Amino acid sequence: MSLFSEQEYLRYTRHIQLPGAGAAGQSKLKQAHVLIVGCGGLGAPVSYYLAAAGVGTITVVDNDSVELSNLQRQITFSETDIGKSKALCTKLRLEQLNSDINIHAVDKALSVDNAAELIQAADLVLDCTDNFATRYLINDLCKVLGKRWIYASIYQFSGQCALFNPDQSCFRCIFPSAPAGDSAPNCNIAGVLGVLPGLLGTMQASEALKLLLGLSSAISNTLMLVETDSMQFQKIALQQKSTCPCCSTEFRFNPDCADYSGICATESLSENANESASKTSVISAADFQQYHSRDDIVVVDVRNKVEHHAFNLGGLNIPLDELATSSEDINLASNLDKNKTLLLYCQSGIRSQQACHLLTAKNYKAISVEGGIVKILRHRLDK
Ligand SMILES: [Zn+2]
Repeated sequence: MSLFSEQEYLRYTRHIQLPGAGAAGQSKLKQAHVLIVGCGGLGAPVSYYLAAAGVGTITVVDNDSVELSNLQRQITFSETDIGKSKALCTKLRLEQLNSDINIHAVDKALSVDNAAELIQAADLVLDCTDNFATRYLINDLCKVLGKRWIYASIYQFSGQCALFNPDQSCFRCIFPSAPAGDSAPNCNIAGVLGVLPGLLGTMQASEALKLLLGLSSAISNTLMLVETDSMQFQKIALQQKSTCPCCSTEFRFNPDCADYSGICATESLSENANESASKTSVISAADFQQYHSRDDIVVVDVRNKVEHHAFNLGGLNIPLDELATSSEDINLASNLDKNKTLLLYCQSGIRSQQACHLLTAKNYKAISVEGGIVKILRHRLDK
């Protein structure tokens, strides 16, 4: 009996010919099960290359749905996928690429409720998320369950990745606590070069394949830093920290750990936004046009001037930082009328809400558009 079907043998010829892989290596890939957490910019190339390479079982986890702004970098999706589940679209795309492998889609966020079972079932975990809370959860469970995982993150023009082994330094050794605020800056807020997740994702996929083939990984216990503006690549050997709680022999997984509470950072951000929204005046994106044309309204874009210049929905442009630094009536008086209501918008509704608080405190009548330009445009395009 052969290791492969005729079709598999033909499909994987280039691996079977490859020194270091061969038929035995390809068979290892076929038997492997990887867990890919996140189907976004990193998850797209990771899942696509691992499926193409013949990794026998792939589980993808994501609770998001596809948006138009994802298509700039999330190459597994197409325009017809907008509004659909990322996990289910990814499964379909991978099945079209390779019908000889098993793809499982979990249309939920990785959470303390499902993470242990999903990680336990996998040989290797790929972190393709965009937030610290999920990474702490993956890190801690991989430590406890003795699993290896490959981390990557991207920010504007920079990226980093590392392979963590259960008996060596961990993510908490490098990042003992999440950056200030409840989550790391993600692509929704900070922006990212479209190809960057492709670069980091293919690095993750490359190291994953080597590991599954039984070859050594060049980023094992090593942090790889990538700067695409200068094209500098740097490797830093990691040292296990004696103070790291996760690397202590006493460490036990605690599902109530506060570090996991920021999971789904963008969701919690908008939940927080809604919470404070109830204390200020907001209108929905759907009502923006109706308010926009009223005589008693002055429309103000509170994003910065570069953002305003690139695209705007009309009105004055007074950046939030100018509003924040100007004392009572300075700069504002010439432009703003206290008898009129200021209709404030920004990219996603966060800054306009902060501006709304500031202006209300200065006795202006102000309202903020929930969800900002992103929601307004989505509403227009859906019509
Ligand atoms: Zn550690």
